[in-house]
Amino acid sequence: MRAVGLHRDVLVVTSRIWQTTCTVVRRGEECFVIDSPVLPDELELLPAVVEHAGFAFSGLLATHADWDHLLGRLAFPGAPIGVAETTAARLAAEPGAAARELRAFDDEHYAVRSAPLSLGHVQALPVPGHCEIGDAEIELHPADGHTADGMALWIGWADTLVCGDYLSPVEIPWISEGGSRAAYLATLRRLAPVVEAAEHVVPGHGEVLDGTRAAAILREDAAYLEALPDAELPIARRSAAQRAIHAQNVARVRAVS
Ligand SMILES: [Zn+2]
Repeated sequence: MRAVGLHRDVLVVTSRIWQTTCTVVRRGEECFVIDSPVLPDELELLPAVVEHAGFAFSGLLATHADWDHLLGRLAFPGAPIGVAETTAARLAAEPGAAARELRAFDDEHYAVRSAPLSLGHVQALPVPGHCEIGDAEIELHPADGHTADGMALWIGWADTLVCGDYLSPVEIPWISEGGSRAAYLATLRRLAPVVEAAEHVVPGHGEVLDGTRAAAILREDAAYLEALPDAELPIARRSAAQRAIHAQNVARVRAVS
């Protein structure tokens, strides 16, 4: 697990698996942990990382309902978790799905956890909207298309965008179940001016980007999606894993048209 400070109030922790990111943001006496690392030892260490940074933990936020982003409560048992209304609806529609998928991952990798995942009370946040933190607020933007749900978070005083599973330097755009190409492209269009203003962009998977590189990935991703089902994979994202995602995208787009 890697931890990088982007700003005196923003810290990004990256998991050893899928380079899944977790962003810790502080304002005054409040601190939120957005998304989560994945591996048991990373989650065990996370509270100490937050404390070592001098941040006083207040609660969890998640960009979307995919299980690998929802593990914060394994690090902070009992903590409240705030999500977009769309994500709350998805979690309510598929109760226990995240815990089941985590269990399947753990079985496959012989991973052992001290407790099962329970999401407890999930707070639904209106999106577009704001989440108050200290004397400031985090802007919440709708971010669907990868899945049916989600939000991107703009931390204005740190010029940082936390965008969930969009703009990844390691993963091609993934139209997974519930997602759609049209919604994905609309999200990219919505995020474009925010990316333009950003100094740092934190994708759900992969290293933190500066605004220029994120804007380049945004253009590349939009071109890829528009060209589906005949699209070429972006040059830097052509591994076997990315080809498998591409095959899913092609099937999903063909099923719609
Ligand atoms: Zn993800």
